[in-house]
Amino acid sequence: MTHLGCSLLSCGVVDDRHFEMEDYQGAIARWCPGCGDHSILTAMQRLLEEEQLKPEQTVFVSGIGCSSRFPHYMKTYGFHGLHGRAIPAATGIKLERPDLDVFVTMGDGDCCSIGAGHWIHAIRYNVDMVVLLLDNNMYGLTKGQTSPTTPATFPSNTQPYGSYLEALNPLTATLGVTNASFVAQTAEWIPAHLFETLKAAYHHKGFAFVRILQRCPVYTEKIYEDAVRQPDAIEMLIHDDGIHIPDLDEIYKNQIIHDPGNLDEARRLAEPFDRFRLGIFYRNEKRPRYEDLRRLPVRTAEEKVELLNQEFDRYAV
Ligand code: SF4
Repeated sequence: MTHLGCSLLSCGVVDDRHFEMEDYQGAIARWCPGCGDHSILTAMQRLLEEEQLKPEQTVFVSGIGCSSRFPHYMKTYGFHGLHGRAIPAATGIKLERPDLDVFVTMGDGDCCSIGAGHWIHAIRYNVDMVVLLLDNNMYGLTKGQTSPTTPATFPSNTQPYGSYLEALNPLTATLGVTNASFVAQTAEWIPAHLFETLKAAYHHKGFAFVRILQRCPVYTEKIYEDAVRQPDAIEMLIHDDGIHIPDLDEIYKNQIIHDPGNLDEARRLAEPFDRFRLGIFYRNEKRPRYEDLRRLPVRTAEEKVELLNQEFDRYAV
């Protein structure tokens, strides 16, 4: 860690720390070789370095699954919780400590199945946090069961003759919830796009939902294989208010200009299509945030203890 820029800490001491990538690197990642989670981890550590986020002011929250090991690999605060319950834990952290930067990492089983109730209501609450859905279309940690986003007919250990149902679409589901404020999709094998999407999500004030198409070479290698090898399988949503990386123009020639302020068009573009669409589908910072609406009175620590004691007294026998 070098010491360059400076800011004033609450205790009056000048904070001149400058953070390098290694300052955010926690334990050695134990994901399988070739797992897309590795590149997401790198992109996230790059983001924290670029934004110079203070490790002690940053929290990663996860549930259960391969992607939920994420907090272990960041040298920040972290909470590796229960299956599907990352969002309520993160919401509590953010409401109690609005000064912290809160990130949530979930897999498709974690978010779209057991955690689906929390996901839907958190979109409506629009609490300021970044929520990443690392979507490999399968339960990986528990060894290859069909998840809500497994494509129809794709075989798994639980449905060996192929998934019976059409996959749930996390983009249309999120965009369909009242008060959705940021919805984007990116792919972990396009690092520049992944990074810019994470950056846009971080700068959004509200619930920023990013679905990241993630390769799992163990259980779902075939699903994204064509998209990785053939840029024509991708369609970029570009706009001055969205994401446009000129260096990628030569590779990803399928582009569509989409204003992220247009919700109806975002919903149309999020429908299943014969290419993967990447970019910011929707962004609206005017959506109300729960933390601004609840208007809790500001109380001192002594007042909180007094209120707590009064509450206990109600049950005295
Ligand atoms: Fe990644 Fe799949 Fe291995 Fe899990 S099982 S660590 S998702 S490659």
